[in-house]
Amino acid sequence: MIPSAFEYIAPTSLNEAVNFLSAHPDDAKLVAGGHSLIPLMKFRLAAPRYLVDLAHVPDLRYIREAQGFLELGALTTHYEIESSALVRERLLALSETAALIGDVQVRNRGTIGGSMAHADPAADYPALILALNSDIVATGPKGQRTIKASDLFVDLMTTSLDPNEVVTQVRIPIPPAGTGVAYEKFPHPASRYAIVGVAAVVRLNSNGTFAQVAIGVTGAGPKPSRASAAESSLIGSDTSDASLRKAGSAASEETETSGDIHASDAYRKHLVEEFTVRALRRAVDRARS
Ligand SMILES: Cc1cc2nc3c(=O)[nH]c(=O)nc-3n(C[C@H](O)[C@H](O)[C@H](O)COP(=O)(O)OP(=O)(O)OC[C@H]3O[C@@H](n4cnc5c(N)ncnc54)[C@H](O)[C@@H]3O)c2cc1C
Repeated sequence: MIPSAFEYIAPTSLNEAVNFLSAHPDDAKLVAGGHSLIPLMKFRLAAPRYLVDLAHVPDLRYIREAQGFLELGALTTHYEIESSALVRERLLALSETAALIGDVQVRNRGTIGGSMAHADPAADYPALILALNSDIVATGPKGQRTIKASDLFVDLMTTSLDPNEVVTQVRIPIPPAGTGVAYEKFPHPASRYAIVGVAAVVRLNSNGTFAQVAIGVTGAGPKPSRASAAESSLIGSDTSDASLRKAGSAASEETETSGDIHASDAYRKHLVEEFTVRALRRAVDRARS
């Protein structure tokens, strides 16, 4: 439970952090909330020589609205997202998702930027981030770039970020009025990580049929994914239980699942179906209200 020795680096600017990472590409690791990295270090599953703390880098902790987007600084904690009046007003499902993460201590320390960069397959935000076509903004030695969420998650705990890039912001399009957004998860009873979590974003036509549907799934397999066959199966169809079940079954079939000590592959398939139905049902209710 004691990590390998490391040197603590505390840059006071983004440039300084990027330069340090660039100079030590193989043995430096950023730390934000530390709630994923430090446990890995204690188990000696990670042993960085340099720990580069983002805490003293300015302008990475904010929640604001700009040009139709919610912009969240990378160091914004889950608790700040959960309790933000702006997030509740513009995207209630994001506040609800943050509130479902871990416990109070985890939410007080863990950050949205850390969650994106860590790409834990059981993390909650990715389902919603994918379903809402969000962007991740990162700064590296060549400057700033914007990565589509669909291009960020590459594999198990693997992203398309370069080792010397710092996530600075998560940008989420604010859904227009009439959009229903919901996230439903089956939590691990101890850690609260998602055994399976599903986000649904829906818009309805005036005759009550589905006009737009996006479904993001997390926890099921090595990386979060969209359930595009399930999405297509709903366009133009009604919102009956039968339609939602058909979509749930399509999501279960198309989603890559894996088994572990917490849940078998078959059980996760079942959970994807069930939680797709639940997320869709709640999103439909919200779209109607
Ligand atoms: C007991 C427990 C329960 C938890 N339950 C849940 C849960 O239910 N749902 C859930 O989603 N999560 C859960 N978590 C994880 C928690 O949300 C983490 O805080 C989060 O995944 C990572 O954020 P962090 O700021 O702690 O990252 P850190 O641990 O500081 O870093 C994680 C990784 O991301 C990199 N990194 C961090 N910030 C940046 C950045 N800005 N740019 C580039 N790379 C960066 C680090 O180098 C490291 O590799 C739990 C954690 C614990 C300990």
